[in-house]
Amino acid sequence: MDNRRSSNKCIGCTVDNCAHHAKSEDYCTLHQVSIGTHEQKPTEPQCVDCESFLLDN
Ligand code: SF4
Repeated sequence: MDNRRSSNKCIGCTVDNCAHHAKSEDYCTLHQVSIGTHEQKPTEPQCVDCESFLLDN
C-alpha cells in the first residue's frame, strides 16, 4: 500500500512540524485549510494563522 500523502500545490507551507505537511516538499496535504487571526485587527502576515495546524509528534 502507498501511504505517501500527496502535496496540494495550491497550499504552499513551510511549517514542517505540522502533521499535515508533505515533508518532502513545502506544501500542505489537506484539500482545504482554515485561516484565521489571533489579532482584533490584523495588519501584517504575522497576525494570521493556519488554524488547521496539528503538531506532528
Ligand atoms: S495544516 Fe496549515 S500549518 Fe499544517 S501543513 Fe497545512 S497549511 Fe501548513
